[in-house]
Amino acid sequence: MSRVYNFSAGPAVLPEEVLREAAEEMLDYQGTGMSVMEMSHRSKAYKDIIDEAEADLRDLMGIPDDYEVLFLQGGASQQFAMIPMNLMKNKAADYIVTGQWAKKASEEAKKYGRVNIIASSADKTFSYIPDCSDLPVSEDADYVYICENNTIYGTKYKELPNTKGKILVADVSSCFLSEPVDVTKYGVIYGGVQKNIGPAGTVIVIIRRDLITEDVLPGTPTMLKYKTHADAGSLYNTPPTYGIYICGKVFKWLKKQGGLAAMKERNEKKAKILYDYLDQSRMFRGTVEAKDRSLMNVPFVAVDEELDAKFVKEAKAAGFENLKGHRTVGGMRASIYNAMPVEGVEALVAFMKKFEEENL
Ligand SMILES: *Cc1c(COP(=O)(O)O)cnc(C)c1O
Repeated sequence: MSRVYNFSAGPAVLPEEVLREAAEEMLDYQGTGMSVMEMSHRSKAYKDIIDEAEADLRDLMGIPDDYEVLFLQGGASQQFAMIPMNLMKNKAADYIVTGQWAKKASEEAKKYGRVNIIASSADKTFSYIPDCSDLPVSEDADYVYICENNTIYGTKYKELPNTKGKILVADVSSCFLSEPVDVTKYGVIYGGVQKNIGPAGTVIVIIRRDLITEDVLPGTPTMLKYKTHADAGSLYNTPPTYGIYICGKVFKWLKKQGGLAAMKERNEKKAKILYDYLDQSRMFRGTVEAKDRSLMNVPFVAVDEELDAKFVKEAKAAGFENLKGHRTVGGMRASIYNAMPVEGVEALVAFMKKFEEENL
């Protein structure tokens, strides 16, 4: 068996320890004689799995009691519709567009109400986060929406926008559990888990309880009401049972690593190794403004496109997978999520140095 260093943006690397544990439990989960995949979601064994996953997540993030934790399906993209359907009481919302995912979310929301783009970084191909300290927040906006870490472009909000009292809704798909978070600053925090937590198929929504009401847009399907899932403890229908089980294991792994403060420290250390190298390299450079750099997704380019392609090819042959940049951006992108070990980043930088020496 040989494992590569996987720099995929998602689905992405998971902690090896978690994968091993899951493998050990594959045929017989704790004496039940079956795999978690084969288990009724109404069984006692499964109830313990989902309850423990929620409790551990609450513990990790310090989620207050007045917030609900929902394990849903449909990916982050389904939330692009679910959010306006459930929250647009005035049929108006403000969006800050810092990349493709925020743009897609804003476009979906337009189907349900008036969408104001109150800030954008499209003018410089999303290479920065706009100043959000004093934005023209709409009087009647039901919420202000952000994508907190821009997976494709590699930027991250270092400070949350001043929403002037409006509810903040954040897509945290690619920075989920990468650092401590003050949940009380948000109305809704959500993310697909396949970037930094678990296997594709589960989306976690953390939502303030008072935002969960029957007062949703007319015609909202039962499955797309937060209330349906909140009332049923995420067991209204069959949830993504195996995915939630793996997420639960990752939560335990994160607690063992020292929790989110320890993860932040480790993630900063990893990112610094890569950014410090990029900042002095004559072959490669990072593509976003230094102050807005993501700890999770690091896009960079070589001096020309030919060398980009050569680098990706040679890196792959050397065991560094999925370094090709997003199809809309080109170049390279190294996603260095929680489960990427420091040694993976060190090995990548050593490889980049060697490539630089050989090709410049
Ligand atoms: C990947 C990603 C999405 C889309 O997630 P799906 O689960 O494929 O719908 C949305 N937002 C962000 C920030 C992402 O990184």
